[in-house]
Amino acid sequence: MLEIIAFNNKYISLGVGFYEKISPVLVAKPGLIKFNEGLAESLGLSTADLMPTEIAEIFSGNRLPEGAEPLAMAYAGHQFGSFNPQLGDGRAILLGEFVSPEGKGFNLQLKGSGRTLYSRGGDGRAALGPVLREYLVSEAMEKLNVPTTRALAAVTTGEDVARERLLPGGIIARIASSFIRVGSFEYFSAKGDAESVRKLADYVIECNYPQTRDTDNPYVALLQSIVERQAALIAQWMQLGFIHGVMNTDNMSVAGETIDYGPCAFMDSYDHNQVFSSIDRNGRYAYSNQPSIGLWNLSRLAETLLPLMHEDSDAAIAIAQNILESFVESYQENWLSGMQAKFGLIASSDKIKQHEDKSLIEELFNIMADNNADFTLTFYFLSRLSATQSSKHETEIRQLFGNSELFDEWLIKWRQRLAVQVQSDEQRQTSMQSINPVYIPRNHQIEAAIRAAEDNHDFSVFHALHEVLQNPYEEQECKESYMRPPEPNEVVRQTFCGT
Ligand code: AMP
Ligand code: MG
Repeated sequence: MLEIIAFNNKYISLGVGFYEKISPVLVAKPGLIKFNEGLAESLGLSTADLMPTEIAEIFSGNRLPEGAEPLAMAYAGHQFGSFNPQLGDGRAILLGEFVSPEGKGFNLQLKGSGRTLYSRGGDGRAALGPVLREYLVSEAMEKLNVPTTRALAAVTTGEDVARERLLPGGIIARIASSFIRVGSFEYFSAKGDAESVRKLADYVIECNYPQTRDTDNPYVALLQSIVERQAALIAQWMQLGFIHGVMNTDNMSVAGETIDYGPCAFMDSYDHNQVFSSIDRNGRYAYSNQPSIGLWNLSRLAETLLPLMHEDSDAAIAIAQNILESFVESYQENWLSGMQAKFGLIASSDKIKQHEDKSLIEELFNIMADNNADFTLTFYFLSRLSATQSSKHETEIRQLFGNSELFDEWLIKWRQRLAVQVQSDEQRQTSMQSINPVYIPRNHQIEAAIRAAEDNHDFSVFHALHEVLQNPYEEQECKESYMRPPEPNEVVRQTFCGT
């Protein structure tokens, strides 16, 4: 047994109804693709002396570290609006919980580690493609300062998995502040098991929201805090053009981290209603729907907490409604302040000025939509424009808009708006460049990394892309190709969950 993680498992003490104890199924031939040494170190994991083969053994589930108490969590969830009372970790296994040197609690999970009680018809396995996608996108999100689960390791299994065709298998080891989902609460609530809802809420409070414990009603404070974190999170997604793709309640973390990277994608050209996910036929989880779906999911969470919030059900409903209404306000505040920063606008407390900024921002998005302007490049160039004079970047940004007159008119208004704020042009450009990325994990590049790995067992494309995404705000030498949108023949129109 290997002593690499000082496990301190708490979820397991909630009782048998919360999980199935189960070990990862052994795989034929674990091979290490990538190990996140920086993350391991920051989490205080003693992995420095391990050989790559040992790391692959551990994070494939073939060799359990000492203190691991593997289990699959039970949960339910609303999938595309319909309630499914029995989901759970069908292809993931929690190895355990531990505390980082900074005193923060974390969970370690393997995804793709074999069948569990909750696998239903599935094989409990993950194909290599989705493993690489989750690794790349979750680590990119971290570097873009978006709350997210982290990728600790990716391994090949040496076994094929059967999807539309046979594909090489993989496993991702991931880290989260919590793997509890909105659907975890729904699981017990739907069974009328109020006691377990309370136990789960107490567990989440202890692990993720200790500051709510000493309030008048910790469960009210818990809901309020979760709502605030989700409002902030979804606003950040919107600011980067990120589309989660499958915002079912079982894929919404109560810790406010982006979780369960499936058919997710960043948009290239801007479209309010962009959808990539092959299973999202009606666009329920389209880009512009994400905030309202966030609220819908949080409403399902609130329903499960009603009995804990007040003994009188009408009073409980009134409290919950208030909190849910605050989501809208909180989301709008986060959205506007984040967008103002993205556009280089210094926020004012004057409501009229705020409204004018909002119009200016929305106007550009409309012009972007009309011209299929690239989301990331638009802000890359905008961050490099002078407030007063034209430059090479001005020619380039105008090309993104097909030299549209509307864009030229907008640029004049933007510059007029900048002229009224007290800030040097250099300062504004520096601060805009610190939040408008040069590189995002573009779909076609992820696809190229997956193709090379799947078809030729070549991981160099994956490693090169990962490397660039480590510093998304810094222009890197000879990396222009990572900035550019796809050529017509490279466009990825659909993404898949790969389940
Ligand atoms: P998702 O929306 O992709 O996060 O998955 C929804 C549910 O399906 C979860 O309960 C997963 O654990 C389960 N699931 C997805 N893929 C598989 C698989 N290959 N085998 C077993 N269960 C799966
Ligand atoms: Mg999921």
